[in-house]
Amino acid sequence: MTRSVRSRIALAVICAFAVAACRQDATRPAMPEAPLTADVHSFARPAEARVTHVALELEADFSSRVLRGRATLTIARADDARDVVLDTRGLEIARVLDQQRQPLTFRLEPEVPHLGRPLVVSLPAAGDRVVVEYQTAPDAAALQWLSPGQTAGKTHPYLYSHGQAILTRTWIPTQDSPGIRQTYDATITVPTPLRVVMSAEMPPTDGVDAGQGRRTFRFRMNQPIPPYLIAIAVGDLAFRELGPRTGVYTEPAMLARAADELVDLERMIAAAETLGGPYRWGRYDVLVLPPSFPFGGMENPRLTFATPTILAGDRSLVSLLAHELAHSWSGNLVSNATWGDFWLNEGFTTYFEYRIMEALYGAPRASMLAVLGRNDLLREMADLPPDDTKLAIDLAGRDPDEGTTSVPYEKGAALLATIEQAVGRDRFDPWLRGYFNRHAFTSITTTQFIADLQQELIRGDQALLARIDLPAWLDAPGLPASTFVPVSPAFTQVEEQARRFAQGARASTLAVGGWAPQQWQHLLERLRTRPLTAAQLRDLDTTHALSATGNSEILFAWLRVAVARQYDPAVPALERFLTSQGRRKFLKPLYEDLMKTPWGRPIARRVYAAARPGYHAVSTQTIDGIVGENP
Ligand SMILES: [Zn+2]
Repeated sequence: MTRSVRSRIALAVICAFAVAACRQDATRPAMPEAPLTADVHSFARPAEARVTHVALELEADFSSRVLRGRATLTIARADDARDVVLDTRGLEIARVLDQQRQPLTFRLEPEVPHLGRPLVVSLPAAGDRVVVEYQTAPDAAALQWLSPGQTAGKTHPYLYSHGQAILTRTWIPTQDSPGIRQTYDATITVPTPLRVVMSAEMPPTDGVDAGQGRRTFRFRMNQPIPPYLIAIAVGDLAFRELGPRTGVYTEPAMLARAADELVDLERMIAAAETLGGPYRWGRYDVLVLPPSFPFGGMENPRLTFATPTILAGDRSLVSLLAHELAHSWSGNLVSNATWGDFWLNEGFTTYFEYRIMEALYGAPRASMLAVLGRNDLLREMADLPPDDTKLAIDLAGRDPDEGTTSVPYEKGAALLATIEQAVGRDRFDPWLRGYFNRHAFTSITTTQFIADLQQELIRGDQALLARIDLPAWLDAPGLPASTFVPVSPAFTQVEEQARRFAQGARASTLAVGGWAPQQWQHLLERLRTRPLTAAQLRDLDTTHALSATGNSEILFAWLRVAVARQYDPAVPALERFLTSQGRRKFLKPLYEDLMKTPWGRPIARRVYAAARPGYHAVSTQTIDGIVGENP
């Protein structure tokens, strides 16, 4: 194990040298540094030819559910490069042209599972542009086309994209690797009165009339980003400003609720800047999506995409926005170079999220989140193959989505908390800010993280190195002995109430006054393994109105208790929850729990048959594997 860490450091030193040499060579045209590690999830050969800018001109056709148009790619190439290799999946390629609109030779190679088809284009003799004319497939995995009935307003259709991890290639023919950063601009034409938003600079206009009942919107992202962060949404969207650089987009019917829930956003950025350094992306807006969005949030730069399930009515679920905002530093400013380094995105961000919550709402609230996170991690690790509980995970030949467990999030955050405890915040915080500065607008590997930590924080302190024990974190399964264990005194009181209730106390006698939502979550997680009777569950639900709560985390935790005890009266609430939102984090455990018993299986099949058309492909791919494609 020590050996593998050493070899990583050696590689980082060689690469750092190569980059310096490359930067000093002034006679060469701009061939940006190649990624350090081959990305097993991309066909690109960036050392030969590399996409540096994507210019999109697309029209959204809602009747056939396709985007159609062209992508003009700017290519940096080595002198002897003959081809540029792009990633595609399901794209219909019409023509490939050079800058003078002369055809270029191209071929689509055979499909590879998970990855799609490499598009190999012969580079033009002159010029650095390649124009791909194409259209997307109606079932493109990145794009969800919603009928009017699937939106809050019920009047207009809706489209949104989700690129992570390797779905951008289903709507843009480019080099779809997080190590290959690209700038982009876009001209998007849609039917009136729909509005387009993207993860880019957006001019404050309602678009330009394009004739035939259509309007065109223009966007520009001048900061190089990994292609998974190129994002689009089209719908009946309204906007409300929240602060000088913050605002919210959503359907008109949800605007007032969303603006009220997100009122702390500007303060949140200020807290994040204290920890991470200046916010570098200009504006920070949030798009609250229709309920089918499969994630809590997606950190698309300048425009976080968020699930409406955060609209609890009491601002109790804003930690999700703290998480997405933190990605403006960890993930977007400094990105994982490959999906095997995903913990660099999510572990840093989860740690950062807890620090923002601590700054805004106090240490007790942050500790509750950390304890809930650790409990999730321990539960999930018990069911994972040991190799998948390592931070540096091997995803070769697999869908990178398989790495999206709580390990990169919570084990990653625990590593940073452990380092913080070992050196103290006086040293840790300046290192963290420095890390974001040193690697700003680059994509890095775990190897480079280790090199940075060694050079800038550990600085030869062998005792400290031994105490942190990096190999045990990165290359060994489970949680190392050195792990910092968060404690929450507020949860001790919760555990006492859980014990009392399980032993027969009435729900009305529980001391729950002034509880934070996280305490309710913890209570319900504690009760899930207790042999409660139907009478106890009825008492709990009628006294505390759990089935009717607007807080999606509490409702989810309650429904898991109900399913564990096969409590029939909660089935209508369960059915409403599973059909009214499509967040994979909520769907997966509930369907899994249901499928474990003869009581639950018919419920799961019936509900999934009705709900499946409303879910995003990201969610159906997961739930098909649990319930079956044709339930
Ligand atoms: Zn995240």
